[in-house]
Amino acid sequence: MENDANLGALSESLWGAGRGHQAVVYVKLGTGIGAGIVFDGQLFRGVTGTAGEIGHLSLDTNGDICRCGNRGCLELVASGAALVTALHPTRPDVTDLTDLVRLAIDDDAACRRLLADAGGHVGVALGGIVNLINPDRVLIGGELGRAGALLLDPLTASLQRSAVPAAVAALSVGPGILGERAEVLGALALVLREPERLVSPETPDIQAAG
Ligand SMILES: [Zn+2]
Repeated sequence: MENDANLGALSESLWGAGRGHQAVVYVKLGTGIGAGIVFDGQLFRGVTGTAGEIGHLSLDTNGDICRCGNRGCLELVASGAALVTALHPTRPDVTDLTDLVRLAIDDDAACRRLLADAGGHVGVALGGIVNLINPDRVLIGGELGRAGALLLDPLTASLQRSAVPAAVAALSVGPGILGERAEVLGALALVLREPERLVSPETPDIQAAG
């Protein structure tokens, strides 16, 4: 009924690390990349429900072709799927994101480098988002978010370079705190606030999970 980044954005802004903030951008970094935007406690979905498709923000107009048809999308260089693929030639034993993050925390240099580079790319994309909507809180969730400072520090540094100083000064960046509960709680919030979205199968803006 709603994509998982939007659900995470809603729950984190109501009950998690975005509580008390006016404009929250929640980025879910998992196998794919998606973002949810909440203004004054309300999800901003856009006209057709695709607001927050940060994974398909192009960072390189000459880059590889993405499944969306564009070139050089963020998802091609910073999604969990892309990181596992990039590691494969040297570490074919690492087949999922959980292992990659655990190895990085255990001080594996290649995994740390991949997370740092991914953070840098996400920070550039977020710089554009921050310039556009001027939020006061950016939250990072999803499987990659579990890497903590290994990802957040380079992400924040890159965001600070990419956004205008006045917007950066009004902003704090942190991890989501609801973890795996974020989406369930977001669904709960949605049911409490918008029960009609549960019972209208013809709702046109249903999206696949990002
Ligand atoms: Zn794309």
